Amino acid sequence: MDKKIFITSGDHDLTENIIHLVIARASDSPSGTKGISLFLVPKFIVNEDGSIGQRNGVSTGSIESKMGIKGSATCVLNFDNAIGYMIGPKNKGLNSMFTMMNLERIVVGIQGLGISETAYQNSLAYAKERKQGKSNNSKSGDGADFIIDHADIRKSLLNMKSIIEGERALCFWLSQQTEVSLYHKDEKIRKDASDIVSLMTPVVKSFFSDMGMEITSDAMQIFGGYGYTKDQGIEQLYRDNRITPIYEGTNSIQAIDLVFRKLINKNGNIIDKYISLIKKETHINEEKIKPFVEKLNKNLEILVSFTNWIKEKMENSKDDVSAACNDYLKVLGLVAISHSWIKVLEVSFIDYEKNKQFYEEKIQTANFFFNRVLPRVESYYLTATSGSKYIMDFKFN
Ligand SMILES: Cc1cc2nc3c(=O)[nH]c(=O)nc-3n(C[C@H](O)[C@H](O)[C@H](O)COP(=O)(O)OP(=O)(O)OC[C@H]3O[C@@H](n4cnc5c(N)ncnc54)[C@H](O)[C@@H]3O)c2cc1C
Repeated sequence: MDKKIFITSGDHDLTENIIHLVIARASDSPSGTKGISLFLVPKFIVNEDGSIGQRNGVSTGSIESKMGIKGSATCVLNFDNAIGYMIGPKNKGLNSMFTMMNLERIVVGIQGLGISETAYQNSLAYAKERKQGKSNNSKSGDGADFIIDHADIRKSLLNMKSIIEGERALCFWLSQQTEVSLYHKDEKIRKDASDIVSLMTPVVKSFFSDMGMEITSDAMQIFGGYGYTKDQGIEQLYRDNRITPIYEGTNSIQAIDLVFRKLINKNGNIIDKYISLIKKETHINEEKIKPFVEKLNKNLEILVSFTNWIKEKMENSKDDVSAACNDYLKVLGLVAISHSWIKVLEVSFIDYEKNKQFYEEKIQTANFFFNRVLPRVESYYLTATSGSKYIMDFKFN
């Protein structure tokens, strides 16, 4: 009997049948990854006429006890003489699995984004109704002020909002790139778009899910004691998001994939192409956007230096690269979000008169992002490029 742990929705009674996609080896296949095929293993065998037949040899051993996502049954599945149907070409199972996993990785990033948005909306509502302490510009006489009047709470809310809206803009742009990669009539354009999506897949997965942790933690802080207790439900968002940096390949594995496999591939130097694209798309002759572009350019230069450092260390010091890969991913994420914010700003300034309140809010939020969030880039760069000597030489007792 074979066993597979941690299977999301491995069993339930929401549908009349369940199909499991399982990678396994056909009896005459070569050893190693070259002999892996993809099989479809149903819970119930389907009869010739399409009706549900007898139970297949796949059963639930147990259900994992988890800190969050309690609405999703995570199962240990036992496979005992189960019938599987090969799908896709024989011995090419890993390719098929990665097609699915790449989509899943983007979806997990978006899961982090969705949880972040829920945390933000709840925090904003709470900050507008909870009164505590005196703000610096208080007009409330002897009484307390709403906590939204405190600069520190406002900073926290804007941190959430500016990251979430930037991430969302990046997602829309990437969705467009995905469409181009699938349907554009020019093969070269299709390939270029596909490379960008591939480069950004680990970034979306990791950056969005990591930011989801920062945002749900800040949300809990805004709720104070009621954030930690179960009364307001905010702690659930923190627990639910905690899986996103872990499943579909941990965020460290994503960062390793980014630096060792995605920067340069068989189609060339993808990261350099992406940096050139950002430069081209942000070369804008609009006075009001220039201060934002200047800040982006300063951080783009850091990204270029960081990329060169990674490429050099790749030749002779892989530990330096491994110790820097998470920081590199964050730098790329922050630059990518700034690129998206520039696109939002372009529309905001052009269409400003059509909806002043909406676009003014976008411009103010971008101001926060470029002044308060983007400068993290420099810190990631400086710490990462200090290398790995102090990390690898340390003796843990
Ligand atoms: C709730 C839940 C649902 C899940 N659903 C599914 C599912 O439906 N299908 C499925 O197939 N799987 C599923 N998983 C499994 C999940 O994808 C894995 O748990 C996850 O990829 C991490 O693998 P691991 O647990 O073996 O951790 P490990 O690989 O043991 O990692 C432990 C730590 O070591 C680090 N690490 C490992 N290798 C390296 C390296 N080379 N360099 C640097 N650091 C490294 C990791 O980043 C991590 O911090 C689920 C897991 C959970 C908890």
